[in-house]
Formats: sequence, structure tokens, C-alpha cells
Amino acid sequence: MLKFDAVVIGSGVAGLSAAYKLKDAGKNVAIIEDDLWGGTCPNRGCDPKKILIAGVEARDRVNQLVGKGFSELAPMNWEEIEAFKRSFTDPVPESRQKGLADYGVTTIYGQARFTDANHITVNEEEIEAAQFLIATGQRANLLNLDGQEYLSNSTDFLALSHMPKRMAVIGGGYIAFELATIANAAGSEVTIILHNRRPLKEFDAELVDEMVAQLKERGIRFIYDTDIKKIVKTADGYHLSADDTTLDADFVLCATGRIPNVEELNLEAAQVEYSKKGISVNDYLQTSAKNIYACGDVLAKTQPRLTPVSTFEGEYAVSAMLGNQTPINYSTIPTIVYGSPKLAKVGVTDEGNGIKMVKQDLTAWFTYQRLNEPTAKAKLYFDQENQLVGATTLSGQADELINYLALVIDQKISHDTMKDYIIGYPTVASDLTYLV
Ligand SMILES: Cc1cc2nc3c(=O)[nH]c(=O)nc-3n(C[C@H](O)[C@H](O)[C@H](O)COP(=O)(O)OP(=O)(O)OC[C@H]3O[C@@H](n4cnc5c(N)ncnc54)[C@H](O)[C@@H]3O)c2cc1C
Repeated sequence: MLKFDAVVIGSGVAGLSAAYKLKDAGKNVAIIEDDLWGGTCPNRGCDPKKILIAGVEARDRVNQLVGKGFSELAPMNWEEIEAFKRSFTDPVPESRQKGLADYGVTTIYGQARFTDANHITVNEEEIEAAQFLIATGQRANLLNLDGQEYLSNSTDFLALSHMPKRMAVIGGGYIAFELATIANAAGSEVTIILHNRRPLKEFDAELVDEMVAQLKERGIRFIYDTDIKKIVKTADGYHLSADDTTLDADFVLCATGRIPNVEELNLEAAQVEYSKKGISVNDYLQTSAKNIYACGDVLAKTQPRLTPVSTFEGEYAVSAMLGNQTPINYSTIPTIVYGSPKLAKVGVTDEGNGIKMVKQDLTAWFTYQRLNEPTAKAKLYFDQENQLVGATTLSGQADELINYLALVIDQKISHDTMKDYIIGYPTVASDLTYLV
């Protein structure tokens, strides 16, 4: 039987950051992975998506300047950008595993299953450890409908060798919006199908409406209040039907949420409590079994499931495993929808309780005028001391601006202090002086 001080289950960003930290602390540590080393983010999540989004950004930049230095709309070549994307993703699993092994972390390929709180089996081999860290992440949830086998998920989309002519996207979350934006830029006729009228429900409704209007301008069609009930294969694609709508498509992307990878772990044997929302932990990321911790997307939590959150939790979990008695304390977490334009938010985004909102239309500001962006807006939330506590913003630069705003919030930088900074001009950052 193999024996370790600590075993990490799952090699995504959460598990990886933890495994390196455990090794740094002098532990004899193993990490188990049953699929691609490196997990979701670099293989089939943020990184490949952001490479494709770079194509959307480049296309938008040119298209916004047609007649202002450019004479033609820029087409995006899917096969080429996919190949560029694969040049990043293909080497990931091997390089992540090698990185771990070179650092002295034992890597074991296979599915981990608990037999009790101190033992797991992998490939029928028993492994004992004093401590475990579960970092098994989430997977796409496919709708249970007639013709479910014709649904594809975000991983299938990111691996498409050819861009389909017609794409149906079921779902109203950030993955649906981002992948629809990419497909639209690559020339697909995209329809987003929503079961209600309120997509991106955690974001400001007015700015979401504005984003939807911009996506419609770019040719994306929206169908509201519709539950697809059945999908049948046709001679040239798929036929989707709901109570009062039908639609034909060549690719059906189901982006209706993600579910935690818990079932295969046999958590009952270790007395680790979980629900369909994920693994329950206390403020130290400790599960109901004292020697077993959990971190990352697999947690039942209110924080957004994002890469920097998972990394932070992985590192925190190790400190708790090593005896840190300070509860986990998250900083403000920016969340971004990489659409066209982008929508981002951070901190408190509700009025009331002494919080006042200031709405800014930035479209006429130089930053956005020089790019000829069709829309740029921000809603800023200030407390009674006039300190920025939250923001939502919509523009092609929202992903950068939101991180500056997060810094202002976290560091409690006041309007007067902001004015003392000399910031390189003209940049998104130099607009901060006028925003906060
Ligand atoms: C399409 C898409 C786009 C995204 N875009 C962004 C973005 O722009 N920015 C951002 O911050 N976040 C983004 N995310 C979210 C981000 O990818 C996740 O928050 C992050 O990767 C979670 O890391 P993790 O380590 O918790 O889980 P994962 O990276 O999912 O790793 C879990 C690993 O555990 C393995 N595993 C599961 N069960 C077992 C078992 N029983 N035994 C052994 N191994 C097991 C899995 O195979 C997997 O490799 C995106 C996600 C998706 C799907």
C-alpha cells in the first residue's frame, strides 16, 4: 500500500496550487487525476476561450474602424485560430504532469474513491494518507430532454474543427454568452435560447439589456421564455422543438450550468457531507471529516466559481491543513463576461443601506471614442464616506477596468488619494481619476 502525508484529488488550478504548497511545506504528497492534467482552466476553460476571444477583440477593433483607416470588415478564420489555440492547449497535460513530477510530487493517473477517511483506492490500489484535499471541480450539466445525445457542451465547442453554419445555444449564463460571441465572430448564425427573459441574472439588468442589444446588432438572435423539449437529427443537422417554437441548427450547445464532481468519490465511506451543490466545508475549508479538506469549484459555496478563486482556496486550504487557525477571507472578486462588448462587476452592486449609485455613460470619453466603441457604461456604488464599494461596467475594455476598480475598492483608495497618482495617459487606468 502506498502511504503519503497528504493526497490531493484533482489536478486543476485548485489542486495544483495546493500540491506545490504541500511539497514546499516538506510533505510527502501525491496528486491524483483521472482526465487531463491541469484540469478545466488551461485545457477546456478560461485559457482556450480567451485565445478565441482575442480573435473577437481583433475583429471588433478593425470593424469599429471601417471608414476610419480600414476599408474592409475583418473575417475570423476558425481553422487558423483553432490551430493557434491548440498550440497552447495540446502541451498542457504533459507539461503540468512533468512540472509536478520534477518538483517531487507523486502523480497518479486514475479515479480516486474513498474507502474510509484515511484511505482511497485508485486503479484498485489502496493509498493511505493522513490528510486529503478534494479539488475535483465541476462538469457541464446537459439538459435531460428527448434527444439529449445531440447536445454538445463547452468542451465540444472549444474543440470544433469547423465552425458550424447554424448554432443553437441553450442557456443564459456567462459560458453561453461568451461562446455565442465567439461563434458569431467566426461567422456562425447564432441563436441563444433562454427559458426566461433574464439572462446573466447576477449582473445589472440594464447593462445586460444593453449587452443583449449589442449582440443583436452583431447578428445574434435571442429566443425568450422557451424550453426546448425535443431534438431530432435531420439530413443536414438537428431540429429543435419547444411548445410553440422550432429551430434548425448544425450544432446545439447546451450551456445550462455545471455540476460538482462528487458522485465517483464515494464520500459516504469517509463521512464527508455534500449535496448536489457540492462539498460542504467550514470557514477553514475543512469537510465534515476532520482530516479531509476541499477547495475550488467542487465546493458548495456562494463565491463565484472562477480560476483565481480556486487558486486562492487551494493555497488557503494548505495553510489550514498545516494548522492556520484564521478563517478564510476572500477579497472582492471581479467577474467578467467576455462578450462583445464585455460586462464585468465587482463588490457591492445594490443600492440602499447608505449605498448610492452613480451612473456614467463613458461612450463619449476619449478611451472609447478613439476605438469608436458603440457603447461604454459604468455604474459605480459609493458608501456614506464616498468610498467606492462596487461597480458594474460594460465596454470592450471592461475586463481591464474592473480589475483597477477592484484594487480601488480593496485598498480603499479615496477620490483625493486617486488624484495624487500620476497614471500613464491615455489609458483605461487614467480614466480612474474621473470615475472614483
Ligand atoms: C468554458 C469555461 C470557461 C471559463 N472561463 C473562465 C474565465 O474566463 N475566468 C475564470 O476565472 N474562470 C473561468 N472558468 C472557470 C474555471 O475554469 C474554474 O473555476 C476552474 O478551472 C476550477 O478549478 P478547479 O481546480 O476547482 O477544478 P478543475 O479545473 O475542474 O479540476 C478538477 C480536476 O479533478 C479531476 N477529477 C474529478 N474527479 C476525480 C476523481 N474522482 N479522481 C481523480 N480526479 C478527478 C478532473 O478530471 C479535473 O481535472 C471557465 C470554465 C469553463 C468551463
